[in-house]
Amino acid sequence: MQFFRYYEARPVTEAIQHVMVVGGGSAGWLTAALIAAEHGAGLRVSLLESPDVATIGVGEGTWPTMRDTLRRIGVSESDFLRECDASFKQGSQFVGWVDGGDDYYFHPFVLPQGYGDANLVAHWLRAHSQVPFADLVSFQPHLCVAGKAPKQAQTPEFAAVANYAYHLDAGKFGLFLRQHCVDKLGVQHVQDHVIGVNSNENGDIASLQTRSSGALAAELFVDCSGLQSLLLGRHFGIGLVSQQHVLFNDSALALQVPYAARDSPIASQTISTAQRNGWIWDIGLPTRRGIGHVYSSAHTSDAAAEQELRNYVARHGGPSDCGTPRKLSFQPGYREKFWHRNCVAIGLSSGFIEPLEASALALVELAATMVSEQMPATRAAMDLVAQRFNDAFSYRWGRVIDFLKLHYVLTRRTDSDYWRDHCRAESIPQRLIDQLELWRQVPPSRYDFTRVDEMFPSASYQYVLYGMGFRPDPTRAPRASDHPEVADRAFREAASLTRRMLPALPSNRELLAHIRQHGLPRDR
Ligand SMILES: Cc1cc2nc3c(=O)[nH]c(=O)nc-3n(C[C@H](O)[C@H](O)[C@H](O)COP(=O)(O)OP(=O)(O)OC[C@H]3O[C@@H](n4cnc5c(N)ncnc54)[C@H](O)[C@@H]3O)c2cc1C
Repeated sequence: MQFFRYYEARPVTEAIQHVMVVGGGSAGWLTAALIAAEHGAGLRVSLLESPDVATIGVGEGTWPTMRDTLRRIGVSESDFLRECDASFKQGSQFVGWVDGGDDYYFHPFVLPQGYGDANLVAHWLRAHSQVPFADLVSFQPHLCVAGKAPKQAQTPEFAAVANYAYHLDAGKFGLFLRQHCVDKLGVQHVQDHVIGVNSNENGDIASLQTRSSGALAAELFVDCSGLQSLLLGRHFGIGLVSQQHVLFNDSALALQVPYAARDSPIASQTISTAQRNGWIWDIGLPTRRGIGHVYSSAHTSDAAAEQELRNYVARHGGPSDCGTPRKLSFQPGYREKFWHRNCVAIGLSSGFIEPLEASALALVELAATMVSEQMPATRAAMDLVAQRFNDAFSYRWGRVIDFLKLHYVLTRRTDSDYWRDHCRAESIPQRLIDQLELWRQVPPSRYDFTRVDEMFPSASYQYVLYGMGFRPDPTRAPRASDHPEVADRAFREAASLTRRMLPALPSNRELLAHIRQHGLPRDR
């Protein structure tokens, strides 16, 4: 592809009247949908995607934020679940991360019962240390183990009995969003290949040169062009800040695997099983499972990683011949900045780190929401919005990296260089080292994460820390704010909720079959 620059003799338009999204993957369509839903007829939104470049086609786990996003753009949850082959996700289960055996722990989406009212950790260790932390403070791991859905057939769309997100088919999700954007939100869809960028005299992008439709102009360009980062990376030369020295995984092998039987249970959680040089995701959709191995090419070969993937599938109810996995490669990192001049990158074009904890689509939702809500009315205001956007997202990427690294640094595994390298101090961000030191005295809390829109709440850090076997300093003296009686009450409430919910909730498969036939009551 040839990229060229020339200066158009055209004045810089002051008012932002037309936004052009480049790329029709999940990031592009989610962004177009959120901007169009927010601005209606007040802003023209186009989405330009190449018929020659396929979308990445993976990305099957979301966060609970997706419920709000779907509601905002005006889709029906029942239609979404049916058309995207989607199921309910209530968190993640990490298997083999501590010792490399059958050990496991949960990171559920529900906050611990009584969170913030007492020092649950202190009382857990004093009185119930034989029970896993998450199992004591939350009913949700028990729902996951039982394969239960997070709501009942009569619960309205998007409402929850237990907080939940989705597992979905990424290809179907893109098509579903496209139809909704074009039919309901007035997004103009252009299928053409971008072959160049035309610049204004001030350096802004004036228009995109396409193969068949000529030059397409807009005032704001959203780069959702995937890993190649066509506009921000290639045109503007904004570099990638590599994080490979912290999070080594840069390769993935993805498979779609049939269920053993039509009525096999659908897991309510993403199962992430540690391997010698990476980990395997296992995601249950209504009609198939998505299983993939994410690994570090510096520590193992593709052939060895594929063999581990095949062994996993064979051991976990898959067929002996599960086809040929699709290979994906990426450089873990994020851009030096995300919004430059009149171009903002969202999705893979802004960066990508391994899919542990499935934060990529959540970052897309956050970025697209900020762009749509803070949309500058004029070019003059754009640089200020861009500065705030860059600050917010540099911070967020930093927290994603800290949190993902936390999953590795407490392991007791020493069976490969991969795990040993993860525990080397030079691979751990200083902020995380400092926090781990503090968390020996006091558990993670709101004091550690002071921004309004933190990526992960302190509760998530607690679930992972104590799930991985981290223990605070045993000599710490009790404090008044520990409130052991409040903690005790919270533990009893969590147990009581578990007892009541288990028989009252249908299985994931039962509820999804019901929705396929009857739908959920519409949200009022
Ligand atoms: C192995 C793996 C697992 C993942 N798992 C998860 C997960 O569980 N949860 C999660 O949230 N995320 C996950 N992700 C990330 C997720 O897949 C992406 O964030 C998401 O799919 C968004 O991708 P995208 O739209 O940015 O890019 P893409 O899907 O790659 O789309 C790029 C678009 O740009 C267009 N384009 C490219 N070049 C041109 C051109 N010259 N002209 C016009 N158009 C062009 C293409 O046609 C395409 O439409 C995973 C990623 C990987 C690699």
